[in-house]
Amino acid sequence: MPFSSPPYMNDVLPYPPSGNTWLHTGRWRWVEERFRQVCRRYGYREIRTPILELTDLFVRSVGEGTDIVSKEMFNLVDRGGRRLTLKPEGTAPVVRAIIEHEMLAAHPLLKLYYIGQNFRNERGQKGRYRQHQQLGVEAFGSADPALDAEVIELAVRFYREIGITDQQLQINSVGCPQCRPAYREELKQYVKPTLSEMCGDCKSRYEVNPLRMLDCKAPHDVEILSGAPKLLDWLCEDCGEHFRSLRRHLEVMSVPHQIAPQLVRGFDYYTKTAFEITSGGLGSQNALGGGGRYDGLVEDCGGPAAPGIGFGLGMERCLIAMDSLGIEFETEDEAPAVFLVALGESAKSAAVGLLTKIRGAGISADMDYVGKSLKAQMRLAGKLGARLVLLIGENELKEGVVSFRNMMTSQQETVPQSEVIQRIQSWAME
Ligand SMILES: [Zn+2]
Ligand SMILES: [Zn+2]
Repeated sequence: MPFSSPPYMNDVLPYPPSGNTWLHTGRWRWVEERFRQVCRRYGYREIRTPILELTDLFVRSVGEGTDIVSKEMFNLVDRGGRRLTLKPEGTAPVVRAIIEHEMLAAHPLLKLYYIGQNFRNERGQKGRYRQHQQLGVEAFGSADPALDAEVIELAVRFYREIGITDQQLQINSVGCPQCRPAYREELKQYVKPTLSEMCGDCKSRYEVNPLRMLDCKAPHDVEILSGAPKLLDWLCEDCGEHFRSLRRHLEVMSVPHQIAPQLVRGFDYYTKTAFEITSGGLGSQNALGGGGRYDGLVEDCGGPAAPGIGFGLGMERCLIAMDSLGIEFETEDEAPAVFLVALGESAKSAAVGLLTKIRGAGISADMDYVGKSLKAQMRLAGKLGARLVLLIGENELKEGVVSFRNMMTSQQETVPQSEVIQRIQSWAME
């Protein structure tokens, strides 16, 4: 029996299956390149971290009470007995790296971006995969709400530049260790009389992580929680001012947004700002990405006291949304400029030498290793989309020339072997 990829993990292909055109490497590179361009424009630099981290890093940062740590991580033990985990999210590894390399000492305002793979062993469905690619930014060293606004506007702009204009930004404040405990108690008091009617997840969240109940999608629970007290009414002076200030900045930037009082996101480490961007192009899994502020995280992971804010955007969701919104874009042309057709064994040997020279001159070129007949080789040249075919047969060999055929115009000419590279280059200019 042939193997298939692990459940809910995708192959991204140069020739994607017709039902899943978004699984196309060309499209992925196009979106990644746009993301890099936007990040560079805003002063963010790229960081790459290993695909694995010590398990304790995620337990400490993401939090024991979260779904991610309690049931979704891919864990393994190495030969030295170390417990390792495939990255379930992008922020904690970046925090670990900046502490390890003391980056904040040299760069008190540190702005980073990354493109990486995340792994979560959760129930899969379209738009929710066990391996997914995340495009993220993290900014450390400032508690200024203007930085929150910059990070949010960067995400909004990125989506706009790849064509997703159908997007909604939702923002909330999840408070801080000063104001959140009192709200948590208030929420528990409110839920207590109806807790027995709520779903199993909410029953355990009630004990370990009551705020996450606000996230619940079970219809009856949503109904119960719609009347719950709002975190925004319980913010301390500092958190309240931060939120008002963020909103003023977003208005100055002309970034439309809605307040979503129940938006909490799945991490324990968020403080103050939390945000999410959704798109109608995605159906039920409508979140494109989101993020928030995490002012205690660097210190919790053993680093200096340094505030931070960031986001993570899902690559797959992005591409699926672009697909369903019918966004057209031109991917990089991977067709060879030149295709060599050789007829006969000695011509083959000459063609191999010429192919190497052409490639060495920086020109993309290819030849057929399967077909023998002229017809079969010409068919492949057409299929690959080559613009110029170079033919070498017995006659060409004898005369020391190569026959050129322009595939667009069907024009033909004969070029001396020593002038082939020059002729291809001048032809490309025509
Ligand atoms: Zn507060
Ligand atoms: Zn529930």
